[in-house]
Amino acid sequence: MLLQRAYAKINLTLDVLGRRDDGYHEVDMVMQTVDLSDVIWLEPREDGEITMESASSSVPVDERNLCVQAAQAFRRRTGFAGGVHIQLEKNIPVAAGLAGGSSDAAAVLRGLNQLAGAGLTLDELADIGAEVGSDVPYCVYGGLAIARGRGERVARYPHVPSMYAVLLHPRLFVSTADVYRGLEPSDFTSSPRSEEMVRCLVEGDHERAVALVYNALERVTLSLYPELRALKERVTSIAQRPVHMSGSGPTMFVLTPVQTHAQRLYNALRGIMKDVYVCRFVGGYHQAHAPS
Ligand code: ATP
Repeated sequence: MLLQRAYAKINLTLDVLGRRDDGYHEVDMVMQTVDLSDVIWLEPREDGEITMESASSSVPVDERNLCVQAAQAFRRRTGFAGGVHIQLEKNIPVAAGLAGGSSDAAAVLRGLNQLAGAGLTLDELADIGAEVGSDVPYCVYGGLAIARGRGERVARYPHVPSMYAVLLHPRLFVSTADVYRGLEPSDFTSSPRSEEMVRCLVEGDHERAVALVYNALERVTLSLYPELRALKERVTSIAQRPVHMSGSGPTMFVLTPVQTHAQRLYNALRGIMKDVYVCRFVGGYHQAHAPS
């Protein structure tokens, strides 16, 4: 039995450059792994089947699950014929803008690479991951990165910013497709702020980094879901710090470089919401101090 952790990500920037002819949007985003994780156990099966179970009722455990799709893609691309049973402990909120499903898929790819003894590099696994979903290649590496294209072109940075994120998940279903459909030409930009964000983080200029956080999808999500706008205002007044959204939402986050401050924010926000998490920024799998 092999254990893999699948970490959540937040978007520190999310710029949309425009809409492509294939229907996808061209994005430019700073992604950062945080230490909120699902746990995945992989157990070889003698009968060559891919099977799955999860105590969580919030995800399907058949071919609709990105874990199963990742296992299928791995076998297709490597010729590996072995079976596997996937057990998923779901801790990352689902459809939350935290890439939980993509991270699970990436964990299955990394795990199967070990189980099968295939010896693929992370670049090769990321290439397989692009078949499963746009965010999977980033999740194969994790850490601090800029993702471009539809998200699958990843530039990695070895730096681990010393920063904490307090995440709030409002338990509201947000349709990612509706959010992207709601983008207007005025939401597009030709000068994304990702490189400046990475520069600030690498130089340790935390206050400037916090001021640079931006998400082009936030305007759309907040206009589609007015209750989220009201919640954001409430959280901003409690936190006395900028509050931002990750991905297409609905998860919001507040950043601080000070751990005790993050804990105080957590205590204050737990008073108004159930799903609040204090997370630390963590590095990627390509780094010496990679998460397990
Ligand atoms: P992103 O930030 O990449 O847009 P997300 O956090 O918004 O992702 P996910 O939690 O990855 O969204 O889930 C999106 C959809 O994928 C859900 O509708 C869910 O049913 C489906 N799904 C398939 N497999 C998984 C999985 N292992 N974990 C979570 N969701 C999964």
